[in-house]
Amino acid sequence: MSIIKQIDVILLALPFVQPFKIALTVMDHAEHIIVRIHDEQGLIGVGEGVPARFVTGEAPETAFEAAQLYAKLLLGKNPLEIETCLGEMERFMLKNPAVRCAYDLAFYDLLAKRAALPLYVLLGGTKRVLHSNRTIGINSPEVMAETARKHVEAGVQALKVKVGTGRDEDIRRVQAIRRAINAPGVKIRLDANQAWDEMTALNILNALVEYDIEVCEQPLPYWNIDGLKRLRERSPIAIMADESIFDAHDAFRLAAAGAVDFINIKLAKTAGIRGALKVNAVSEAAGIKCMLGGMSESLIGVSAGVHLICACPNIQLYDLDSPFHFAENPAAGGVSLTSNGVVTLNETPGHGADLKPDWLERSKKVIIRE
Ligand SMILES: [Mg+2]
Repeated sequence: MSIIKQIDVILLALPFVQPFKIALTVMDHAEHIIVRIHDEQGLIGVGEGVPARFVTGEAPETAFEAAQLYAKLLLGKNPLEIETCLGEMERFMLKNPAVRCAYDLAFYDLLAKRAALPLYVLLGGTKRVLHSNRTIGINSPEVMAETARKHVEAGVQALKVKVGTGRDEDIRRVQAIRRAINAPGVKIRLDANQAWDEMTALNILNALVEYDIEVCEQPLPYWNIDGLKRLRERSPIAIMADESIFDAHDAFRLAAAGAVDFINIKLAKTAGIRGALKVNAVSEAAGIKCMLGGMSESLIGVSAGVHLICACPNIQLYDLDSPFHFAENPAAGGVSLTSNGVVTLNETPGHGADLKPDWLERSKKVIIRE
């Protein structure tokens, strides 16, 4: 038996080093929800969720309010009963997946701390060193190619290339990058963030077949599942869904339609680890491989994701480089991530990450206790 004595709800404002452009928007800062769940023993479970207006439909302001409503619901409950707690949250207020993600990660962190185990051990996983891709935002072909060259020189093994501003420009970007890196073993993944229509996508993917593209992520608008199925049947390049799939129900529909080769799991869409395990299970049953990606998580959310990956062999592609967006690292502990994309776990109980004390001190927060 355990009891939730206090919940800290924090709005973490993180400036970017430089603006990051994708087909949906340009980002120059991020505001994340951090929750810290305190139990009666003084243990604290920590979780992060990234509200993304264009994907999850949550704004930082609405997410901060929603997180406080959930906190009031959860005070006094047993945080080890994760299914019950998350189920009650869903019945109390639907949607808000990024906010529920912050709670979910905090519950699993707390459970692993109670068990004095790293989270990946609790989940039945095996420790592995991972190689994350590095993501290149939309820019001119020349600038993107130069960024790609530097990454590959540093040892990066996979690049995720943002596209989606138009057929000719997008093709030139990929041509310039493949020529600049001059390393056939390096994987190139595209992400169009819903920017193309069906014919444009087919045209572009046919034109890119000689550049050895591993997969193209979310070529069509999120709602166009029929189009995705037709595109997959005719495309010479594998297709991944991102914005089209949040939860296990979406994964089931995509699998039943035969619409995708890959699914991008993001904890902010699945509302955390519990939902991610279900999406992965449905995908695995349908022969669909998964990527673990993110919105713009700090090392707190990324650390939780890495522990999950180590317990899910079907998650085979890793897009974990979002902490490099930020001018400062607000997190203490957690996984280590080097600029060449190598990610290493440590053996701290839980996922191992928390806010640094000075970030906890200066961030906007509400403390809810009995
Ligand atoms: Mg994506």
